[in-house]
Amino acid sequence: VLRLIKTFKPVLLWSALLLSAGAHASQIGGLRIWDGPDKTRAVIDLSAPVEYKLFILTSPDRVVIDLENTTLDDNAEMPDLVDGRLSGIRSGQRDDIGTRIVLDLSRPAKPSSFLLKPVGEYGHRLVIDLVDEITNLPIEAPIRKASESERDIIVAIDAGHGGEDPGAIGGKGTYEKDVVLKVSKLLKVEIDEMEGYKAILVRSGDYYLPHQQRMDKAREQRADLFISIHADGFPDKRARGTSVFVLTHRRASSEAAKWLADRNNRSDLVGGVTLDDKDDTLAMVLLDLSQSASMKASTDAGTRVHESISSVSRTHKKQLERASMIVLTSPDIPSILVETGFITNPDEEKMLNTKAYRRKLAKAIAGGVESFFQNNPPAGTWVALRSSSSKSHVVSRGETLSGIAYRYDVALTALKDVNNLSNDRVLVGSVLRLPSSNP
Ligand SMILES: [Zn+2]
Repeated sequence: VLRLIKTFKPVLLWSALLLSAGAHASQIGGLRIWDGPDKTRAVIDLSAPVEYKLFILTSPDRVVIDLENTTLDDNAEMPDLVDGRLSGIRSGQRDDIGTRIVLDLSRPAKPSSFLLKPVGEYGHRLVIDLVDEITNLPIEAPIRKASESERDIIVAIDAGHGGEDPGAIGGKGTYEKDVVLKVSKLLKVEIDEMEGYKAILVRSGDYYLPHQQRMDKAREQRADLFISIHADGFPDKRARGTSVFVLTHRRASSEAAKWLADRNNRSDLVGGVTLDDKDDTLAMVLLDLSQSASMKASTDAGTRVHESISSVSRTHKKQLERASMIVLTSPDIPSILVETGFITNPDEEKMLNTKAYRRKLAKAIAGGVESFFQNNPPAGTWVALRSSSSKSHVVSRGETLSGIAYRYDVALTALKDVNNLSNDRVLVGSVLRLPSSNP
């Protein structure tokens, strides 16, 4: 499901008192832990909103949460043993405080916390995120030089939801987050088996990742395509079929504007140019061009995947669909979203629970991806160099117009002519027509 995708801004609390609407006594129903590579999330289930204090104590490192006016449910579920950032969990009742929960840390971590209101099967929750203390090291993105030929095409596979966000839930209790992770892993196997391709899993376990982190991961890996895998949910059990989505044009341009408004993004490479030294109008134009190019590529890739997936499954709509979705808003990586069927449809839930069907879907998605890149191979990739029929060229990061002309053995002027280019600027993701080779 799409509506559950959202970014949130954790509220950082340093010995601060957080006031909430209700002052009724609250019962603590339990505590759940999700251990991810970037953070550990602890979720405390509550019967009512609470006031709480959160602070850090050292030697040994621990996070203390005092929940006022609360009692611990006798049946409260507490995880016994925790690996990763937590070495222990303790709780106790004190008259003056309420309930104190202590999270023992195995290494220094920075906590942030926020309260969540009831949604779906979940009630009131207090969420505590623990991020490793040393997180400010810049991530060295592998910069690929144009001369570094025959690189793999990188496909980022994003299994939707995860952790405390289950996504849609089937009649038999199947969680979308579980099914889509299984499909994603099979898709990775399929793509890795294709020569000249490499797949990366944005989410590899049962933990939640905010949207921004999903995009960042894909960008760090210099992904050529971002595929988000989901399963649909709908109150009417009859709803069925697979879908492939790309972003609507309107959402694309408003996201581009938002993205540009954040000066932090200016120093990032968009379409191969930095924007921080450009004035707003020029920056907007450049970003827009880059976004249009990746929108075109998204549409092409989405169409191929939709075609391919329709050969193994019943599709919800006859063609590619457009939607306004935050998961598809990366300005410079072509992105598509695949709904692998309706988990709320009994037949499809049953099918999605079989490995054979999941593999069939994964093969079909991989087939669509291959078909797209056969026709639009990014320059410098193994696939591009072996694609004899390639008459067009999708510009990758780090490429120059003269480099592209050299690669295809065409004159620079001819390359500029057939593409109506007045200067030597090229944008990542833009598709260049190639003139016939020099005689
Ligand atoms: Zn979903």
